[in-house]
Amino acid sequence: MILIDGKKAAAELREELKKEVANLKTKHNKVPGLTVILIGDMTPSQIYVRNKEKSANEVGLKSEVIRYPNTVEEKTVLEKIKELNQDETVSGILVQLPLPKHINKQKVIETIDPLKDVDGFHPMNVGNLSSGYESSVPCTPLGCYLLIKKIEPNLSGKKAVVVGRSNLNGKPMTQLLLKENCTVTVTHSKTKDLKAECLEADIIIAAVGIPELVKGDWVKKDTIVIDVGINKTDKGIVGDVDFDEVSKNAKALTPVPGGVGPMTIACLLKNTIDCFKRSQI
Ligand code: NAD
Repeated sequence: MILIDGKKAAAELREELKKEVANLKTKHNKVPGLTVILIGDMTPSQIYVRNKEKSANEVGLKSEVIRYPNTVEEKTVLEKIKELNQDETVSGILVQLPLPKHINKQKVIETIDPLKDVDGFHPMNVGNLSSGYESSVPCTPLGCYLLIKKIEPNLSGKKAVVVGRSNLNGKPMTQLLLKENCTVTVTHSKTKDLKAECLEADIIIAAVGIPELVKGDWVKKDTIVIDVGINKTDKGIVGDVDFDEVSKNAKALTPVPGGVGPMTIACLLKNTIDCFKRSQI
């Protein structure tokens, strides 16, 4: 079984991006800039944002974090986003989710210039992705996609089962796999026989949020299994896949932690650089 090392893949991607930033600096005499808006004092969000800032600096991006208290008014945030939309030194804007209840998430997402939408959540990017056009792609599914391609460069005709249909993970993952000519089955909480669906798959992507949902006997030999889940349990952080059991059958499997997670941040940096490149055309 191939243990898919997300840390190593992310480090390699960061190294490539670092070179790309250096080249862009020589060519344009400026570097891509990422601005993150962080609202409130939720610890996980603070940790994510700190890691994003650290990684952005590492590859040479200009990075900035704008912090607001939990009580900030929605209009203050929207005004700031509009200001950043106009700022030529800002290539990518990310508003860290979740937001406090009084702030409308969709309004925030739709206020970000689609060309600076490094999370790929703006309806224009969602539409472009599903139409097969160039777009920002949400970072986690993009990371999964890059890991799958490392194992299997030609995905044409493969059967993929996506477990979970969230806007963040399952749906964009599905679009990326369709673009690669996979036959994709999207499963969710109302799917009747998830095991039977998974047993058909050459590739399984589990993005559910239920600890160890995908069992060893749900996976046929030679399946590539990507575990997006991050679940806090009594035995620590586990994924949506029963790692010990599935590793006996799968061709390749991502561990949790150390699989998809590190790729998510690396892909955010990639998206920022891609936004910069599109803005220079
Ligand atoms: P979500 O709650 O938005 O969506 C979960 C999806 O799972 C839904 O579509 C739902 O229909 C489906 N589902 C629920 N129960 C099911 C069942 N029994 N069988 C099949 N499908 C079922 O979750 P999300 O935001 O997509 O996150 C999923 C997991 O991925 C979470 O554990 C989250 O922490 C993790 N995550 C990891 C990263 C990363 O960087 N590794 C990033 C984002 C999310």
